[in-house]
Amino acid sequence: MSDATAKKEEGRKFQATKGTRDILPPETALWNRVEQTAHEVFATFGYGEIRLPVFEDFRLFQRAVGVETDIVNKEMYVLDDLMEGEIGARLEYLRVQIQYMTVSSALPTEVEQFKTLYNDFVKAYRIALERGLAPRDEFTDRHFSFLEAMIGRLDLFPRDMRTPEDSFVLDETVNNCKIQVREIQLTELKALRPEATASVCRAYIEHNMQQLPQPVKLYYLGPMFRRERPQKGRYRQFYQIGAEILGGPDAPATDAEVIEMLMTFFDKVGLQGATLYVNSIGHSAENCRRGYVAKLMAALEKVKDKLGPDSQRRIDTNPLRVLDSKLESEQAIIATLPRIADHLCDECKTHYAAVKRQLELRGVLYQENWRLVRGLDYYMRTTFEITAPGLGSQNAVCGGGRYDGLVELLGGPPTKGIGFAIGEDRLILSLQESGKTNVAQGRDVYIAWMGERAYAAAIRAAKDLRKAGFSVELPPVEQKFGKALGQADKLGARFALILGDNEVSEGLWTIKTLSTGEQTKFTESDLLDYLVKQRSA
Ligand code: ATP
Ligand code: MG
Repeated sequence: MSDATAKKEEGRKFQATKGTRDILPPETALWNRVEQTAHEVFATFGYGEIRLPVFEDFRLFQRAVGVETDIVNKEMYVLDDLMEGEIGARLEYLRVQIQYMTVSSALPTEVEQFKTLYNDFVKAYRIALERGLAPRDEFTDRHFSFLEAMIGRLDLFPRDMRTPEDSFVLDETVNNCKIQVREIQLTELKALRPEATASVCRAYIEHNMQQLPQPVKLYYLGPMFRRERPQKGRYRQFYQIGAEILGGPDAPATDAEVIEMLMTFFDKVGLQGATLYVNSIGHSAENCRRGYVAKLMAALEKVKDKLGPDSQRRIDTNPLRVLDSKLESEQAIIATLPRIADHLCDECKTHYAAVKRQLELRGVLYQENWRLVRGLDYYMRTTFEITAPGLGSQNAVCGGGRYDGLVELLGGPPTKGIGFAIGEDRLILSLQESGKTNVAQGRDVYIAWMGERAYAAAIRAAKDLRKAGFSVELPPVEQKFGKALGQADKLGARFALILGDNEVSEGLWTIKTLSTGEQTKFTESDLLDYLVKQRSA
């Protein structure tokens, strides 16, 4: 690095990483109000909060979210987690040595050296496995036996290696050893969670929650991570509030109640103009969704030339996702495609009709949207989405659906499941756009004090007022009253408590209402009563 570059680097100002952002006061007060509302509303429906890790085994998401999805294919933040302790470093070192060593049959010392390295590696790996430090999967034991068997093969050298065949066999053995060593997994792949349903299901299985009274109702909130192109309402670290019901029957009333809870929450936070869309995507059988998808593919093939490259690709990988397209030029074509509602099996049709009836019973307004799909196999029957105004094209504030196969897919017992995830960032944006952000800001009381004795009284007053729940600003250094009142104004304080040595010796304290300029004198004990009354006024 040149001196100039070093200087520049030294003076560099750091900024939040692309797609991440700081959420600052007073906006955080709005976030807190939204989250508090979620805690309260979900509790009234009998949900308990689950706190989940922010990173998990990569394979959990690969399995749950699906290999053929954008999330897993290109949006996940993957971490290479190193093995604990020194043994990991030793294994890495030996592995590199083995990879780069050339072994000639003409040089017995090289053969010996290779054997030693290889033996050391296998020994260290055995210890790492015994101590539970090396990652294990279903292939580990078989792989380890291969590694050990290669020790026996290597021990056949050096013999009298004279023929070209001898040297050929040695080369092949050494190469085999290198391949085996290279393929050992020494690090564990973790991923920052792109969503939390997979984690909730993992936790349900891990903690044997199927033994609890069913269904188990859980909700979560927190950051999710996806490497997407940042834009309004789309970030790389974003926040979700979600809930899941696991176990129990797949009664349509459950689907309807989940949606009712969601709409109750949106209503409580003051979201205006939200629209609920519902659909049923049936289940993955020939007489239901699979049959429909075949018809859809056939219809798509016929109009393939008129579709964009993304949709063309999806005809083979994930045809349902074509229905999700937002491309203007494709809308007229999509409108002519076969609709899943006409191809549901009898059970799914009945279930869907019952969900809609149940929504009506609960007074939940909805619109049907046959294009609302989830591209994943385990999603079934009810799917829903909520859009809100003021968000441009990123207008979905919540997505959800039934996923009866997921727990089983993750190695648990057959379990019904349904849930949703709210995009908190977008919800907040929409609230801000509609001006629904009335959260108390500023201070209740600013204490303007001057003089030693006044300061002692000010400290006492601050303590009492705070105890009574008021937000109080007590300036740390003395200021002239004029300056202090100006400061109180800037902070948006409602009242200023004026405390000079005079007030203290008189025992009468002055309260100034900043909006009107009105001043009143109170004794210390009357003051608190007055403020409490004002607060509820
Ligand atoms: P979209 O189609 O907008 O990408 P999605 O189908 O990927 O959404 P889900 O995985 O269903 O979204 O997540 C549920 C909700 O989380 C979305 O409705 C949205 O509000 C929010 N969300 C998803 N991705 C982001 C993101 N990158 N930034 C902010 N919010 C997001
Ligand atoms: Mg997305």
